[in-house]
Amino acid sequence: MTSVEQTYDGAGEDVHDRECYRCDRNVEPARLFRVTVEPPETMAVEYRDSERFCCPDCAAAMNLSEFSEEWIERRRQR
Ligand SMILES: [Zn+2]
Repeated sequence: MTSVEQTYDGAGEDVHDRECYRCDRNVEPARLFRVTVEPPETMAVEYRDSERFCCPDCAAAMNLSEFSEEWIERRRQR
């Protein structure tokens, strides 16, 4: 689909775009939650933007389901 253009110097930084990053379970892409982390500007030297994918179960464990409720509400407003 898309090629990963980012290259990492260290090993173990593989991007698992079809696996939950927490439980390593394979999840169909349509059911993956995308979790993006953006550090504040003052921390940008040590941390960089990160994007992870996680399964609905782990999303629920992290209370991310609240976001999905918000999302569903937004869809209902159409
Ligand atoms: Zn998971």
